[in-house]
Amino acid sequence: MLENKAINRNTYDQVMLPIYAPANFIPVRGQGSRLWDQQGKEYVDFAGGIAVLALGHCHPALVSVLKQQSEKLWHISNIFTNEPALTLAQKLIDATFAQKVFFANSGAEANEAAFKLARRYAITRHHPNKTQIIAFHQAFHGRTFFTVSVGGQPKYAEGFGPKPADIVHVPFNDLDAVRAVINDRTCAVVLEPIQGEGGVTPATMEFLHGVRELCDKHQALLIFDEVQSGVGRTGKLYAYQHYDVQPDILTTAKALGGGFPISAMLTTDAIAAAMETGAHGTTYGGNPLACTVGCAALDIINTPEVLMGVEKRHDMVIQALEKIDQKYGIFHEFRGKGLLIGAVLKAEYQGKAKEILQQAAEQGLMLLSAGDSILRFTPSLIISEDEITEGMMRLDMAISRWLNK
Ligand SMILES: *Cc1c(COP(=O)(O)O)cnc(C)c1O
Repeated sequence: MLENKAINRNTYDQVMLPIYAPANFIPVRGQGSRLWDQQGKEYVDFAGGIAVLALGHCHPALVSVLKQQSEKLWHISNIFTNEPALTLAQKLIDATFAQKVFFANSGAEANEAAFKLARRYAITRHHPNKTQIIAFHQAFHGRTFFTVSVGGQPKYAEGFGPKPADIVHVPFNDLDAVRAVINDRTCAVVLEPIQGEGGVTPATMEFLHGVRELCDKHQALLIFDEVQSGVGRTGKLYAYQHYDVQPDILTTAKALGGGFPISAMLTTDAIAAAMETGAHGTTYGGNPLACTVGCAALDIINTPEVLMGVEKRHDMVIQALEKIDQKYGIFHEFRGKGLLIGAVLKAEYQGKAKEILQQAAEQGLMLLSAGDSILRFTPSLIISEDEITEGMMRLDMAISRWLNK
């Protein structure tokens, strides 16, 4: 193995496929909402591994069950089932509209399964030509070829040859636009109740209720991609529970394993019945190690203490941002729900989010953007008051430095 000190940011450029542009420092250790890099510099973590680390880094309860399970059974394949997978499936069913669960390893895989299921259901239960999928501009559903094609940023799907067909995109939160394209050939409408990557844009109440009605009218399935908005992120276990609109299929990933890769697709008995043995599958999906961590994460997150704490932390973050804005006047608006928050830069700072992130890292703060003009906050759901205060002081400093550069 290479010596630690032989590994640095330059190594990345030498050995990695050049699809990311990671920050200049390399984190080596994390605890709660704090991280340390190779040089021992400390960071406050407002990024949370992109809405994954719902309980922060190395939560003791997750570490403990991971250690225990690692001495019992890691992997068994789906030729055999396992107790942790069945336990986690039951917990998800008890907590949601769902009656059936499929496990995979990433958000994209859960969505891939959802889209295949919707097509299969429409084709077998209705008509072979009922294959149209309606999706939204700015939507993000993952990077497999099907999911990236359903996503609403064409630049990510182009340049790879012929795309999966029969997908249409319309503006988000525009019910008339959905009404104009939906028809009896529509098999599914796919949306994020709160668009994450696309700019932290919550669906409006009228929009979600309207889309549900249109789906029912045309016998199309409604798929909610809650890969980012789910697992307590918005202060309810799933964001749909704020809207009182039930999907037919829901996908969940990111925070589901608290940092351990796992995803799930949830649906009803009637829809699940469109799939038979052999119709879909995965080698790692539902492995005991991931499901054990998922169970422990869900047991902690799906409690009034944690979920109610999200709302309190939301208010703290917004108040701190408002204070920063009073000083520097750089924000146009704040939006989002719970701890999925977007701070939209004013028009004159358009395209500058990355520069602010760089300054923030220098000040010891890890932060995300959504697009190039929105700062995105997706910290741990149990980040402490002190950590929020400290992180916001560093953000204040970063913005001050950046403006005076
Ligand atoms: C992150 C994300 C995905 C993709 O998940 P991966 O685990 O990267 O495949 C899909 N949908 C939404 C809404 C996401 O935020």
